[in-house]
Amino acid sequence: ATPLAMAVATGKAARAGIFIKEESALQILNDVDAVVVDKTGTLTEGMLSLVDAVGDDEAIALAAALEASSTHPIAEALVRDRGACPAPGATPPSVSDVDTVQGQGIIGRVDGRRVVVGRPDWVQREHTTLAGNATADEPFASFAEDGYTPVAVAVDGELKAGLAFGDRIRPSSSEIIQQLMESGTEVYLCSGDHPQTVQAVARTLGIPADRATGHVSPEEKRRHVDELRRDGHTVMMIGDGVNDAGALQAADVGVAVEGGSTASLVAADIFLTRDGLDPVADLFDGATSVMRVIR
Ligand code: ADP
Ligand code: MG
Repeated sequence: ATPLAMAVATGKAARAGIFIKEESALQILNDVDAVVVDKTGTLTEGMLSLVDAVGDDEAIALAAALEASSTHPIAEALVRDRGACPAPGATPPSVSDVDTVQGQGIIGRVDGRRVVVGRPDWVQREHTTLAGNATADEPFASFAEDGYTPVAVAVDGELKAGLAFGDRIRPSSSEIIQQLMESGTEVYLCSGDHPQTVQAVARTLGIPADRATGHVSPEEKRRHVDELRRDGHTVMMIGDGVNDAGALQAADVGVAVEGGSTASLVAADIFLTRDGLDPVADLFDGATSVMRVIR
């Protein structure tokens, strides 16, 4: 490819909402035969809202105070929907020792209490002292079955509340997924969310159940991409989060969606500057003509 031809191609792409950071990615687009896609913020809008809350109100307030130090979509939703606006002159809660655990949740001290907010299985297994080894499935399993993201709140080692967050599937997701699958591309949905929430989204989009996996950590997302590549696939990863950065980097073509985290933009070869997944379709449609221009 001549520099001029490449410039023409990338200029065309830019007008279609596609920013090509790594030009070599363009040349393998036509070979992509497996696409791994993140759920929250990628297939969905990532604008969560709190749709249900059960348990102790004080614990939920402590959770909201702790989440004020996180930029995770769950944190933003909780702060917006339950964050306290302290009365004039009142002392805001003191938050310290905050530790964010990628793909799991957040830990910290709020007004001297130890507060943990995150994946229900992780919160219960690692941050509560349980009678026996039992972890409560309810209300989390019901939230997840309804397609909501379940989150647990523990205070001082005790499970105190269950939260359900809703998110909308982007209108453009269904079309691109259908298009990819019809063209024979294997589509995998990988998410840190509850497995049943992930299945609900997969069902809506027509992704086979055995290709949709939940409770996937950031390292496992990366490993999944590595394994597909080892099996001979040319892999595209599409994601938005800090938790997707490793997988975006490992993929043959990493695509970060519009509004994604800085880490995802840095790790990706291509990023979208137009909302939604429509530009991905343009990217594949355009790959053939782009290559014609380049060669
Ligand atoms: P995804 O792969 O769907 O983009 P993440 O890896 O960011 O999701 O998060 C996976 C899960 O970890 C969430 O569904 C949630 O249960 C938990 N989690 C992560 N960060 C937070 C946080 N700041 N507050 C509450 N829960 C969190
Ligand atoms: Mg995401």
